[in-house]
Amino acid sequence: MKDPNCIFCKIGAGEIPTSKVYEDEWVIAFDDMEPLMPVHVLIIPKDHYANVGDNVPEEILGKVFGAVRKVADIKGVTEGGYRLLVNTGEDASQSVQHFHVHLLGGGLMPRPNDQDWGAAASNAQ
Ligand code: AMP
Repeated sequence: MKDPNCIFCKIGAGEIPTSKVYEDEWVIAFDDMEPLMPVHVLIIPKDHYANVGDNVPEEILGKVFGAVRKVADIKGVTEGGYRLLVNTGEDASQSVQHFHVHLLGGGLMPRPNDQDWGAAASNAQ
């Protein structure tokens, strides 16, 4: 199912050009347009799910996460390592409401700590 107003659905359908990294029947991966690291790829299902909690069938979860190691190989970060990030909903500041996995790599990333996690984190027990 596609959402005609969703930009990532349009990318998945090939209606909006992107810097494509990987594609199969279920999934497309492309470079983030505002990269936070030398390697910053978004891996998305072609069908529309608002986020990872939106009743995504396990088969599709498998296809999305199954693409991770392929994207890592293509981008040359398998050996050095990478970070996966799945912003989900308002508290996580998800900005595009179509389930996507960020794959970040190509350099050392700090471990999250209170300082860079913002005010709410410093209140966590
Ligand atoms: P999130 O905050 O987890 O929802 O992340 C959405 C990401 O999508 C951001 O990192 C944006 O830079 C990225 N983004 C939005 N539109 C596009 C686009 N047309 N092509 C590539 N990346 C995009």
